[in-house]
Amino acid sequence: MSERSFVCLVLILVASVLGHGSPRIETDVLHYAATLEPDIVAKSVKGSVLIRFATTAPEVELDCGDLTIDAVRAAGAPLKFSVANRKLRVPLPSERRVREIEIDFHGTPRYGIRFFPDRQQVYTVFSTSQWMVCVDDPSDKATLTFKLILPASLTPIANGQLLSQRELPNNRRVSEWRQDTAIPTYIFGFAAGPFHVVKEKRRNVEFQYLATNFTQDQVRRIFRETPDMLDFFEDRAGVKYSEKTYTQVLAAGGVAQEMDSFTALRETYGEEVLKNEQDVWLGAHEFAHQWWGNMVTCRDWNHFWLNEGIANFMTAAYLEHRFGRAAYMREIDTYRANYEKVRAAGKDKSLVFPDWLNPTREDRTLVYDKGAYVVHLLREEMGERNFWNGLRLFTKRHFGKSVVTTDFIAAMEEAHGKSLKEFFAKWVYLK
Ligand SMILES: [Zn+2]
Repeated sequence: MSERSFVCLVLILVASVLGHGSPRIETDVLHYAATLEPDIVAKSVKGSVLIRFATTAPEVELDCGDLTIDAVRAAGAPLKFSVANRKLRVPLPSERRVREIEIDFHGTPRYGIRFFPDRQQVYTVFSTSQWMVCVDDPSDKATLTFKLILPASLTPIANGQLLSQRELPNNRRVSEWRQDTAIPTYIFGFAAGPFHVVKEKRRNVEFQYLATNFTQDQVRRIFRETPDMLDFFEDRAGVKYSEKTYTQVLAAGGVAQEMDSFTALRETYGEEVLKNEQDVWLGAHEFAHQWWGNMVTCRDWNHFWLNEGIANFMTAAYLEHRFGRAAYMREIDTYRANYEKVRAAGKDKSLVFPDWLNPTREDRTLVYDKGAYVVHLLREEMGERNFWNGLRLFTKRHFGKSVVTTDFIAAMEEAHGKSLKEFFAKWVYLK
């Protein structure tokens, strides 16, 4: 498996254990207001979350990972609750459609959050319900206010706009952010460490680069392409970047995880870019997710190729824009070769999965690499003008929403002015 195939690997592994279980009670979360205090040395968290949601059901079901639930309240009054199979169930006392409940919790998560005591670092990775009670469903987008309590010596980053920072006793500091755009919970998150910060601006977007083991000059070189990536992705998406800041963190461990308005990247990525300034694949892939994945989000993991295949394709497209056609074709050839190995082993499948419960390594290659290769083939089939018009139509029409594969097909056919049924039957559905 090539190094690149590990991108978001953790994400997929964890997606595989989320499971679908019994049918979910219909709940639409509108807003989370959370306070979290991680203990980096003890590798634990404690916190509370106020969840505002709409439901017509007599009880609410939430994902609580392996967290211990300490209390559940509505308007200050304790509520009964039960926990089983990583689900918190709370019978609701009133008939109102929009409710608020508050949950206190603590735990020592084994995944979804990583602690590095020797580096004084902590960051989240995809499985939000392991560190905060929520609905782990990519189609349930919500806004967030988030308070994070950490040692005052650390530099934290989380989703959206930093509102305030206030000192607390025992050398701690509480930082508060507000995320006004509704986003799926798997891209909720934060990172913190003894980072120094380099800032720059492109039009209305402020970039922040956080790192420890690199000089400021090195950090500027590592992220030199980021403003150009913004211009390129905005142009190809037909939609402006949705936040005011974008932060890239060079963090401990082997991470490559997009979150809303920031990305955690492994430090070896920085070393690679310093060696070869064109080696920005990972930075481009994760930045592309701010459009494809974060804002245009697969409705469920069965359509995961819309997140990852498009992000992988857009990474190759950025390399083409920046370094020429040969750089693009090198990536496309890699995607195709990875896919052909899977096909030769007799493990080719539809890009739309019947369920994404236990994906194999080959399934992941299909979603990431066959997905990107198929988008490339579609570009060849449609021609430059129709293809990019179609991608812009798809992105604009579904920005901030959830998508399934037929949404992608419909936008592409509309831009093309004729049916692409045969193409998608052959390459996506394998019929
Ligand atoms: Zn990805």
